[in-house]
Amino acid sequence: MGRCVVAEAEEILDKAFPVLDKGFVRLVDYMGSDQRIVQAARVSYGEGTKTHRQDAGLIDYLLRNEHTSPFEQVVFTFHAKMPVFVARQWVRHRTARLNEISGRYSIMAEEFYEPAMEDVSEQSEDNKQGRKNEPMEKERALKVLGTLKELHGKAYEGYAALLEEGTARELARVVLPLSLYTEWYWQIDLHNLFRFIQLRMDAHAQREIRAYALVMRDIAAKVCPLAFESFNRHVVGGVRFSGEEMRALKRRLAGEESGLKGRAAERFEAKLKDGGSQ
Ligand SMILES: Cc1cc2nc3c(=O)[nH]c(=O)nc-3n(C[C@H](O)[C@H](O)[C@H](O)COP(=O)(O)OP(=O)(O)OC[C@H]3O[C@@H](n4cnc5c(N)ncnc54)[C@H](O)[C@@H]3O)c2cc1C
Repeated sequence: MGRCVVAEAEEILDKAFPVLDKGFVRLVDYMGSDQRIVQAARVSYGEGTKTHRQDAGLIDYLLRNEHTSPFEQVVFTFHAKMPVFVARQWVRHRTARLNEISGRYSIMAEEFYEPAMEDVSEQSEDNKQGRKNEPMEKERALKVLGTLKELHGKAYEGYAALLEEGTARELARVVLPLSLYTEWYWQIDLHNLFRFIQLRMDAHAQREIRAYALVMRDIAAKVCPLAFESFNRHVVGGVRFSGEEMRALKRRLAGEESGLKGRAAERFEAKLKDGGSQ
């Protein structure tokens, strides 16, 4: 069998899907599809071609049982544009290959992330790493947005002035803030893309990177819909129970108290109530 061509994926190749105020993700290229996953798995089992239903069953079996290597046979190249603070979280996913625009080589464009008003919130009190779910009241949010705009303007003015004086681009750029937009080509296989999407779509991840993970899930699902059907069924919204929690769960199912105390009991109840990623 030759190259996998998926009509739905071909239709969206090179199409930029907007994310945040100035960002985007587009699928540059892909290699493999659901078909490649089943071919790779059947090579290891020494079996031939089967029906579509059997293929779907095999993919679901592989995903459920964490037989992950056939998913590594599918590869995606994305072109994405995101603020630097999102890129810093994104780049922690080390199993990708990337090429980023160079601020040493190019003059960076005056493009800064400015959140939508409903995304401006106060610092959360119970989650040190996040913001409150509800937005700030309108007047205060407008003030925050005004401050951001003003600081962005000043930073870029400083950058432009340094360039004007003949300062090297690699040095002038150090005045630019984390909200500056950057872009890159990012290539990853499906197994590791699943992990990226799982971690970054989760409610614990920052809202801005979640926006990218959601768009990338929809794009990648065009290439291998069966794999994403299984991923959505078994991974998204799922939680992992520890051994201790499984014993507590069994007690609860038997109509007894969980037997957990303090923070352990709170974590357990939160898992039952809120589940995992959306
Ligand atoms: C909600 C959230 C909050 C976070 N907060 C912080 C934070 O405060 N500070 C911080 O520093 N990070 C933080 N991170 C980043 C986090 O620690 C991980 O670095 C990131 O999520 C990437 O995950 P990964 O290592 O599984 O991904 P990948 O790097 O893609 O790795 C995928 C798999 O390959 C393995 N792997 C990759 N490279 C190697 C290697 N060289 N050797 C051996 N195994 C390898 C990994 O162990 C993993 O199993 C946060 C992440 C999330 C989702």
